[in-house]
Amino acid sequence: MIARPLLSVDRLTKAFGGVVAARDVSFEVGRGELVALIGPNGAGKSTTFNMVGGQLEPDRGSVMLDGTAITGLAPRAIWRLGAGRTFQIAQTFVSMTAVENVQMALQSAQNMSFNLWRSAHALHRDAAIGLLRSVGLADSADRPVATLAYGDIKRVELAIALAGAPKLLLMDEPTAGMSRGERHDLMVLVGALARDLGLGVLFTEHDMDAVFGHASRVLVLVRGEIVARGTPAEVQADALVQRIYLGKSGTLAAAEAGRSRGTS
Ligand code: ADP
Ligand code: MG
Repeated sequence: MIARPLLSVDRLTKAFGGVVAARDVSFEVGRGELVALIGPNGAGKSTTFNMVGGQLEPDRGSVMLDGTAITGLAPRAIWRLGAGRTFQIAQTFVSMTAVENVQMALQSAQNMSFNLWRSAHALHRDAAIGLLRSVGLADSADRPVATLAYGDIKRVELAIALAGAPKLLLMDEPTAGMSRGERHDLMVLVGALARDLGLGVLFTEHDMDAVFGHASRVLVLVRGEIVARGTPAEVQADALVQRIYLGKSGTLAAAEAGRSRGTS
């Protein structure tokens, strides 16, 4: 138990028709922690994630964010209370520069619509560049997003999420589509931001290097239930995890490597 958890999820449950997608899911995320939610396809990762973010209303159970009950609130309300989420930059915005995208996010966070009497260029530009600096992209501030490398676009998306000054960051498969090097760099960055800003991070992830190399703790979901939890080393050594989640083959890494070879 964390003394004063940032996020506290208690017995969250959600069924779709006859399928119980999440059953009595309980866990905590502390400040500065990266908590990975892993499990096979259909295990209930997205369902759990969406109940925390407000996209799905739980059948029962509760979610507390920094001491405030957020169970069943709308996504926008949960975002206002400090749970940020990374989103793909919409196609409409890729022609805009990196800094313009972050400026828009800052405006949105301050609940202002575009103000026709002030130049959008000037508005929040310094703050936006500061956020781009925190993700290592200050030098690319004035480049259109469309011209950036894939890993750098993901960094802009992270800066956009940080514009809301979140306490908790929710990331659904943050490294999907990245090269091995980009994955490593992004996870190092997220870990450093979590520590420096005292952010709690909850992420789902298929890439086992990202999970076992960078998570503070790992939660393993199988058929809607958490079957194992602990440090990466503890989870990797768990016989039940190896049997249920990974099949018969030896180590976690070996099983996952086989899986990704098979699917991508
Ligand atoms: P994961 O993200 O771990 O792959 P999901 O949370 O997406 O798993 O899904 C868990 C289970 O719930 C699956 O059996 C899935 O088919 C079912 N499910 C998820 N969302 C819905 C939905 N909106 N309607 C019906 N069934 C759903
Ligand atoms: Mg999913």
